[in-house]
Amino acid sequence: MSILVVGSVALDTVETPFARAEETLGGAASYFTTAASLYNQVNLVAIVGSDFPEEHLDFWRKRPVNLAGLQIQEGSTFRWVARYHLDMNARDTLDTQLGVYAGFHPVIPDEYSRSSLLFLANIQPELQVEVLEQVPKPRLTVLDTMELWIMTAHAQLTEVIKRVDILLMSEEEIRQYTNCPSIVTGVRQLLNMGLKYVVVKQGSYGALLFGADGTFFSAPTYPLEEVIDPTGAGDAFAGGFLGYLSLIEPQPDGSYAVDEIKRAVVHGNIVGSFVCEDFSIERLRTLTMDDIAERYQALVMCSHFDPNWRTASGYLDEM
Ligand code: AMP
Repeated sequence: MSILVVGSVALDTVETPFARAEETLGGAASYFTTAASLYNQVNLVAIVGSDFPEEHLDFWRKRPVNLAGLQIQEGSTFRWVARYHLDMNARDTLDTQLGVYAGFHPVIPDEYSRSSLLFLANIQPELQVEVLEQVPKPRLTVLDTMELWIMTAHAQLTEVIKRVDILLMSEEEIRQYTNCPSIVTGVRQLLNMGLKYVVVKQGSYGALLFGADGTFFSAPTYPLEEVIDPTGAGDAFAGGFLGYLSLIEPQPDGSYAVDEIKRAVVHGNIVGSFVCEDFSIERLRTLTMDDIAERYQALVMCSHFDPNWRTASGYLDEM
């Protein structure tokens, strides 16, 4: 089961309170592609300029990544500059240069048409709509976005949300989009738009899963001692999430069992945690399924608690 992704491929310059990395491989689709290709075949749709370093393409060519939908156009690659605060859950965007993205229209190659999973990574919502119009209904469609589009393209974003199955949003983005101080109320508003699930990304605090069927699941965070660069954690989360699901047999009606969706959220958390251990996609280059499995077990251990308890006065609560 291959995964189709459309989103940004960029050259990022990122500064943290401790270090700076110039013009490294970035972009939502880059993080997603590198993460998800650990699990399965990824079909990439994006655009880069003629200045995009060939070494990045060579890296993807060595993995199960199809680049037939990557347009290479005369001009500059998308560039993004950001600076993180001491609390690295917060950052400021210092500069965004769209470059060749300014005139981009995604074209889905015929060979991608059998992709069963679709990830609409962070990009202008009208381009996400263009992708939805070109693909026959995939088994599962997952959407990511960012504050910029919530503020500047609210109506188009609403159109996309109504057409997908799962929405990934940070807590702050949910407040911005719904205007609700309560995440639970905001998520309910989103689920009422027809979504099957909403995943609330909470940065270094983990992720929450809400389902239209009433599901609620809190995925633990992996306690990272040192965060080098959290850029792309959300996109790597999506890569782990969809990568895991791409290896799972859906139920006879084509949907995924809720327990599989929960496991997928844990995979997302784990791959997202690894990406923070270095700049750009560096940590993902060497990441193995054994590394993921080890962290999965660590999360199981740290989030398990005894359902039976007893107080000194003799109050008993047993399952
Ligand atoms: P994340 O840390 O998951 O929010 O993703 C950060 C990535 O998003 C960076 O690698 C940027 O290149 C990319 N990015 C930043 N701004 C935009 C934008 N306006 N459109 C698409 N991608 C962007």
